[in-house]
Amino acid sequence: MNREIRLQGYPICPGIAIGRPFLFSAPEEDVPEFLVADDKIQFEVDRYYQALRRSRKDLMSLQRRMLQEGGEEAADILGSHIEIMRDPIMTVKVEQAIRSEGKNTEYVFKSVMGEVEEKFQRITDIFFRERLKDFQDISRRIISHLRQKERCTLKQLAYRCIVFAHELSPSDTAEANTDVIDAFVTRSGAETSHVAIMARAKGIPFVTNVDFPVLCTASPPQIIVDGGSGLVIINPTGRTLQEYREFEQKQRQEVEGLCKSSLFSAETIDGYPLRLSANIEMFKELDMLHQYGGEGVGLFRSEYLFLGKDSFPSEEEQFLVYKQLVEKVGNHTSVIRTFDIGGDKLGNFHLSRQEQNPYLGCRAIRLMLKERTLFKTQLRAILRASAFGEASILFPMISGLNELLEAKMVVETVKEELLAAGIPFNRTIPMGCMIEVPSAALICDILAPESSFLSIGTNDLVQYALAVDRGNSAMSYLYTPSHPSVLRLIKMVVDEGNRAGKNVSVCGEIAANPLYTELLIGLGVHELSVSTPALPVIKNTIRGLTIVGARELAEHVLTLSTPQEIDAALTAAFQKGGK
Ligand code: PEP
Ligand code: MG
Repeated sequence: MNREIRLQGYPICPGIAIGRPFLFSAPEEDVPEFLVADDKIQFEVDRYYQALRRSRKDLMSLQRRMLQEGGEEAADILGSHIEIMRDPIMTVKVEQAIRSEGKNTEYVFKSVMGEVEEKFQRITDIFFRERLKDFQDISRRIISHLRQKERCTLKQLAYRCIVFAHELSPSDTAEANTDVIDAFVTRSGAETSHVAIMARAKGIPFVTNVDFPVLCTASPPQIIVDGGSGLVIINPTGRTLQEYREFEQKQRQEVEGLCKSSLFSAETIDGYPLRLSANIEMFKELDMLHQYGGEGVGLFRSEYLFLGKDSFPSEEEQFLVYKQLVEKVGNHTSVIRTFDIGGDKLGNFHLSRQEQNPYLGCRAIRLMLKERTLFKTQLRAILRASAFGEASILFPMISGLNELLEAKMVVETVKEELLAAGIPFNRTIPMGCMIEVPSAALICDILAPESSFLSIGTNDLVQYALAVDRGNSAMSYLYTPSHPSVLRLIKMVVDEGNRAGKNVSVCGEIAANPLYTELLIGLGVHELSVSTPALPVIKNTIRGLTIVGARELAEHVLTLSTPQEIDAALTAAFQKGGK
């Protein structure tokens, strides 16, 4: 495979990377096959039984939890999984196969399960076909225990490389070591998934929807990843390499040029002031905040504190993080969002029962209102930190007034406890409401008076308004913020926020897309909160606009009927601005 191959994917995070590939696989993928020495066979058998015990332990603790929460049906299913693990197929048959084949446990186990699956496939009875799913589920769990030691995490990678994966999870990306990972290339993924958000926060070029061939051969090929255009080039010719090295240099100079504006304020040519703040997922990003001229933190995604970890951070651990955050941010505000767990952000926690539609299930504020102890622990930590700087609290995924009032009431309870204990905190800490569910946008006249500020989460607002899964790349042709319904919802929120005299910010990914800057300003948004690497380009864009022109554009765009017409109008306005 020596000729140059160009694969067109979907761009997620801009930037150029040139390097060698590393194939990162999920535990159940790519199980290797190898022979085991006779004296190591007993070790392989023991390893298998240990993985079985661990899997059983997982299921039993999950089952206990389900029962505590009244999830009897789920507990029954887990009970049947525990029973399946006692089946002779799972015990005697696998042990015999390890002994007779003399191969590694993962491989033998997978092939025994393959035979079981084949038998199940031939059965037409729906009951037995369903049992196949149970076997697959258990098999995945056992394999992941077997491979725990063998599997490397993205944190452990020791040499510079471009990571190729079928798919990444938010915790994979959270752990990614940016000193050695030059880019990500995946087969599937979507623009506003949390994996993409994380890669952007870390500034790692990322291309998805690439059907890449086998790359990790004895002599892996050289690769170019162009995260801006979505192009992945395997075995580039000398000429292509030269072109991309020059392109990379040009891009770096452009960013350096843009950073010069960091000293100036984010206001339009005719003096309309905007607040340009940052979305922060990892502490490291805070260093860039000042360098890039961000005014505070518009969204601190607190749930990233425990992604990839096995336990929730204690009150003290959280307090230290939030305190450091507000102190580092200085005079500007830090908006700390309470845990937005659920959807694709569950990490290693099984707080809720397995759900058919996790994005429509017990997520974010819904989960926190159920898990009161966890919620109160976080609120205590935020409130304690508020004595050291400008902290605000933001509630995610509010869908109606009751949730907002209940969340605020929990804050009041925690305040009383702190007061009684003589612990200092800001008694008038602002409490904001995230508008990311259409129902919330439609009742902003009711929610705005009860909120200190509003923050529009367009990533979810688009998903819920258009009924398109934000993480499903096959549906991404429908997932667009330039749908007239989304723009009308944003307009509604801004108008009601303004009527109630409340600050309205946009913290979804469109805030970081310069194509939308003029429109959002024209719609009346006061603040844009963007990933730190996007701060310079958005500040420069704002500084090249007028509020008069922006309002005219917004007025015109609101008369258009399709995303295509709106995209064309935004592109034309952007080009006219000479950006
Ligand atoms: C959003 O939904 O727009 C948002 C900012 O929150 P998240 O992307 O973390 O769901
Ligand atoms: Mg959201």
